[in-house]
Amino acid sequence: MAVVLIAGGGIGGLATALAVAGSGHHAVVLERADRFAEIGAGIQLAPNGLHALDALGVGDAVRATAVHMDELRFMDGVTGEHVTSLELTKGYRDRFASPYVVVHRAELHSVLLEACRSSGSISLVSGSAVDGYRTVDHRVSARLTDGRMMTGDALIGADGIRSAVRRRLLGDGEPRVSGITVYRAVIPMNEVPEDLRFERSVVWWAGPGCHLVHYPIAGGSHLNLAASSDDGTTEPVTSVPVGRDRVRHEFGALGRTALRLLELGRDWKTWTLVDRDPVGTWTDGRVALLGDAAHPMLHYAAQGACQAMEDAVTLGALLDGAGEASLPGLLAEYARVRRDRTARIQLAARDSIRLWHPAGAAARDRNTMLSALPQRALQDHVAWMHGFRVSGADRAGATL
Ligand SMILES: Cc1cc2nc3c(=O)[nH]c(=O)nc-3n(C[C@H](O)[C@H](O)[C@H](O)COP(=O)(O)OP(=O)(O)OC[C@H]3O[C@@H](n4cnc5c(N)ncnc54)[C@H](O)[C@@H]3O)c2cc1C
Repeated sequence: MAVVLIAGGGIGGLATALAVAGSGHHAVVLERADRFAEIGAGIQLAPNGLHALDALGVGDAVRATAVHMDELRFMDGVTGEHVTSLELTKGYRDRFASPYVVVHRAELHSVLLEACRSSGSISLVSGSAVDGYRTVDHRVSARLTDGRMMTGDALIGADGIRSAVRRRLLGDGEPRVSGITVYRAVIPMNEVPEDLRFERSVVWWAGPGCHLVHYPIAGGSHLNLAASSDDGTTEPVTSVPVGRDRVRHEFGALGRTALRLLELGRDWKTWTLVDRDPVGTWTDGRVALLGDAAHPMLHYAAQGACQAMEDAVTLGALLDGAGEASLPGLLAEYARVRRDRTARIQLAARDSIRLWHPAGAAARDRNTMLSALPQRALQDHVAWMHGFRVSGADRAGATL
């Protein structure tokens, strides 16, 4: 039985701990914060994310707290025209063997955390910020910022987009600033007029150089609003409060209905979107990167957490019953299996802006093109992402 150190107790780190424990090893999760918790609002889980959760043994617990969506609805944010919807009802659920859901981020995290707490093969250690690592004699030691050293047979860096493990492994500097600012607000559903509720929809309002997305969270009691402005910002800010006037000004090009939604928001906060280019190197002997530490992506494909969980399941399947000596080779195999798929999603998430942000004639052409697509074609478009079932059997998974 190997001891696998995991830097980071977010969604990726906890999923990895469950996968490692399930494959017969002991996982030690080192979390920087004083307690294991997740902040933020809603998170969408496509079938591929739910299949990964099933493989980790917690799919049903997550489904029980989730709101099941009926459509991904695409609106022209200027004219208010309903351009198209990818239906998420029977045809989609049958094809991808799962619903598409939204959950509160804290709910997903707490399901994973409870499962970790009830495992005898997982140690959860908070207040432990990893600062680097070194490999000595077939073992790896994580160095903590307070000087402690934790030693195991492998180290997984699941410590997010500004990963300390990645800094030591790749040294590729700060994330790329995308030039896009996101504005976020959460509104009690009972304050949203009936005609704007869309209680079972993820709705996009596409505008010139901007868009607004919303969906219900917390069992449908609140509406999560996230509006993106392609404002060319170069400052990587996080969670900065802004007033309604700034929101009105940034999204003034949107039409009346989208603006009515934005007017409902209070306590707006902004942050700058950052990501990184895909890289070929995720491993260094007994050390590997996972989740946002390996492949941070813009949230536009709603896949970052789903990919972190797929990573975890793949890694667990490879480590199943493995001896300590084989770990470097198995980590290299994990990276080989996961690299292309996650790189494609990183690039697709960036590329989605080209569909959402055009103006004038280009926006009209987009609407014509999208509205002509039948359901099957819309499903085909997302099948490679949503329809992927990560599998322990063939170590890669299959598209449904
Ligand atoms: C606005 C927004 C919306 C999103 N929506 C979706 C969505 O709908 N669907 C989806 O699948 N994904 C979505 N994502 C992406 C998703 O949130 C991330 O991809 C996912 O949380 C990554 O998980 P992670 O565990 O790899 O990293 P993180 O969530 O960043 O967790 C890293 C953990 O490591 C800890 N840590 C950091 N540094 C250290 C250190 N040095 N030592 C020890 N611990 C450390 C942190 O405290 C944290 O607990 C969204 C992201 C954003 C920003």
